[in-house]
Amino acid sequence: MSTEVVATSAVSDAQQQSPSAPTQQKSVEKVNLLGMSRPQMEKFFEDMGEKKFRAGQVMKWMHQFFVTDFAEMTNISGKLREKLEKIAEIKAPEVVHKNYSKDGTRKWVFRVGEGAGSLVETVLIPAEHRSGLRRTLCISSQVGCALDCSFCSTGKQGFQRDLNQAEIIGQLWMANYSYMEDVPVLERERSVTNVVMMGMGEPLLNYDAVLNSMRTMLDDFAYGMSKRRVTLSTSGVVPKIDQMVKDIDVALAISLHAPNDELRNELVPINKKYPLEQLIAACQRYIAKDGNESSRKHVTIEYVMLDGVNDHPEHAQQMIKLLKNLPSKINLIPFNPFPHAPYGRSSRNRIISFQKTLSDAGFVCTIRQTRGDDIDAACGQLVGQVADRTRRAEQWKKKVAAKNEILRSQG
Ligand code: SF4
Repeated sequence: MSTEVVATSAVSDAQQQSPSAPTQQKSVEKVNLLGMSRPQMEKFFEDMGEKKFRAGQVMKWMHQFFVTDFAEMTNISGKLREKLEKIAEIKAPEVVHKNYSKDGTRKWVFRVGEGAGSLVETVLIPAEHRSGLRRTLCISSQVGCALDCSFCSTGKQGFQRDLNQAEIIGQLWMANYSYMEDVPVLERERSVTNVVMMGMGEPLLNYDAVLNSMRTMLDDFAYGMSKRRVTLSTSGVVPKIDQMVKDIDVALAISLHAPNDELRNELVPINKKYPLEQLIAACQRYIAKDGNESSRKHVTIEYVMLDGVNDHPEHAQQMIKLLKNLPSKINLIPFNPFPHAPYGRSSRNRIISFQKTLSDAGFVCTIRQTRGDDIDAACGQLVGQVADRTRRAEQWKKKVAAKNEILRSQG
């Protein structure tokens, strides 16, 4: 395992190029192009009096060759590059902590504002698959989360704010760049094969930024990912599921975690607003729309296994009943306890027997391998640790400042 704390902006050339105060001041006013979807970028160039095909050119440099310096964009005229330099920048969020596990899992903590509460995390999990090596990136959409699911470390941190498009796409950019840092620009490739919007936050409560970011993920001028390989995971914001069905074709995962309303109200409180009947009906509408499209053949059901809470045989039977008319694949997730978590992880035997009941009933049911255990793979856990360290550092700085003040006042 390699662990590194990055104290300053080691993230991008753009950030490295802002050492002095006046330059920093100027860069704050620049437009960050990183998160713009193609229509937004085309409008940006048209507003500059340029042809809109420039959008595709710049996007390829940013998202396929991981270039952040306009000077390196050799198929763009020197005059336009100079113009861009003055008004725009390409800037991923600042990495404050990164961990690379020996099993290949990579994890980053990004700072997206001031103070200990402005951190988000991103996890990349590699896995061998029959189609080749998969690198799946779990992306955050909000700083903290308002939904307060009782088993979730992120929920315990409360909600700070939505991430903007540059902060969402910046996570994907950084994960790809981490494999290409030392590769000559024109030989660089995209390394992340799959994305799940399943990190910190409820993505459907940051709808526009998440939608535009997913469009950039699918765009051939950017990451060119297949719609089957971009998954939105929601705890069940029913009206937004319907909206998403109209706006974009990507895979859908539901954080179910309980097979009846009584238990789900406790574990996933948004269930009180959109109970299971409404949620399953929304999933059916998702499947029904262009049902032959490969990304909409099934819904993935995520189910965290909590010891003695939702892992009884009758829960498996309730699942069978609940999902009988919904084409679905079930993913059982062994709970990853975090400090002060009110739950424990179900035993291996319990999980296997739960899986068997569902498989025997005809469901495709897998158990998620626990990965990156040596780097705290539970969502929100690493951020909690980095935030604690940041808070302690802030408190220490305050104490030192107060002491200096006393010494000054004493002459
Ligand atoms: S599980 Fe997801 S929706 Fe629930 S509190 Fe955690 S981040 Fe929010």
